[in-house]
Amino acid sequence: MYRNTWMEVNLDAVEYNVRRLKEICGKKIIAVLKADAYGCGDSHVAKAVLAAGADMLAVSSLDEALMLRNEGYDGELLILGATDPEDTKIMIENNISVPAYCPEWAEKVLKHNPAGLKVHMKVDTGMNRIGFKNQEELKMAFDRLKEAGCLMEGIFTHFCCADFDEIFTNLQFDRFRDAVELLDYPFKWIHCDNSDATVWFKDPISNACRIGISIYGINTYCDDLRHPVSLHTTVTMVKKVKPGEKIGYGSTYTARKEEIIATLPIGYADGFIRANKGRSVWCDGMMCEVVGNVCMDQVMIRLEHAVPLNTPVEIFGPHIHLEDMASDLNTIPYEIICLISGRVTRTYIWHSEEETEENARLLKSAVITV
Ligand SMILES: *Cc1c(COP(=O)(O)O)cnc(C)c1O
Repeated sequence: MYRNTWMEVNLDAVEYNVRRLKEICGKKIIAVLKADAYGCGDSHVAKAVLAAGADMLAVSSLDEALMLRNEGYDGELLILGATDPEDTKIMIENNISVPAYCPEWAEKVLKHNPAGLKVHMKVDTGMNRIGFKNQEELKMAFDRLKEAGCLMEGIFTHFCCADFDEIFTNLQFDRFRDAVELLDYPFKWIHCDNSDATVWFKDPISNACRIGISIYGINTYCDDLRHPVSLHTTVTMVKKVKPGEKIGYGSTYTARKEEIIATLPIGYADGFIRANKGRSVWCDGMMCEVVGNVCMDQVMIRLEHAVPLNTPVEIFGPHIHLEDMASDLNTIPYEIICLISGRVTRTYIWHSEEETEENARLLKSAVITV
C-alpha cells in the first residue's frame, strides 16, 4: 500500500504479554482473537500468542473461526458468541468448539446430528448476555447434548465488572461454582477470567483464563505489560494561514494569529473519528491540536514550527498512550483499536524484523504454525 498511514503491531511485545500473563495466573491461556484480534490482524497475533504458549484461540463467530482455519490454524478453537444450530455440521467438520447457551439452542442443535460437536456450557452468572440462567435448564441441556454424543469439553462464564467490582465478581463466581458442582463432570476446560480477572481473581476451580485486551498491554491490575500497538501517519502538506482564516468543513476553526497548519492523510474512514477534533497528536516533539472538523480521509493540525513533508506523526503510541486517547474520547481502548479500519496498513515487528503487509500476505498460509 502506498498511503502513509499505518498501524504497527509489535509481536515481540504481544509474545511477552502472553508469557507474563500465563506466569501470573499459572493456568492455561485462551487467547481471545475476536474481531480480527481487536483489529490487529488475527493470523499475525495468532502466531505470536501461540509462540508464547497460548493453549487455545477464541473468536466471536463461526465466520471468524473459519477465517483462522483458512489461515492454517488447526489447534484448539472456541467460539464465544452465538452460533446457528443449522451450521452444526460445519462446526463439527472444522473441529470448532461452541458454547451451549440456552434451551432453544440446545433443542435445535439436537435436530442436527450433533454427535462429535465440542461443547462448552455457557453459564450466565449476572451479565445477562448469553448463557443459562437457570440450573434445571443447564442440567437438562447438558444431559441431552451428552446423550446425543456431543463432546462436553468445557464450562464457562463471563465477568462483567472484573475491572472494578470485587464483590459482584465474587458473586458471579459463586454462581459459576454452583453450576460446575451441579454438573459434576470432568470438564477439560473450566474458565471464567477475562484479562483483568486473570491478574487478581484466584480460584481453585477454573483451569484456563481468557485474555483479550491484555494481549495489547491493557490491564487495570498489571502495569508491567508492554504496549505493542501504535497508530501513525505522516505530514502531506504544510502551510501558513493568516489570522481569521478558517479551516476545514463547516469553517469551525479560526486562526487567531499567523499559524502553521499541516494536513495528514487520516480521517474518520480510518477510524480516526470526528470526536478527535480538539485533541492532539504528536509530531516532531510537538503536541499538535487537531483543528477543524476531521474529514473522511484527511485532517488538519496546528504546528508550532514547520516540518518537512513526510514527517512522521503519532496518533497513539509511545508519546500518546492508547488509554489516554480512549479516556479523552470517553470510550475504552478496545473501541479505538477495533475501529481502525481495513484500509489502514498493518505493519508487524517480530523477532525485531519488520514485516510489510505484502510480505505477510505471501507468508500467510504458513503463518500460524509455529
Ligand atoms: C471479549 C471476551 C473476552 C476477553 O475480554 P478482555 O477484557 O478483552 O480480556 C473473554 N471472554 C469473553 C466471553 C469475551 O467476549
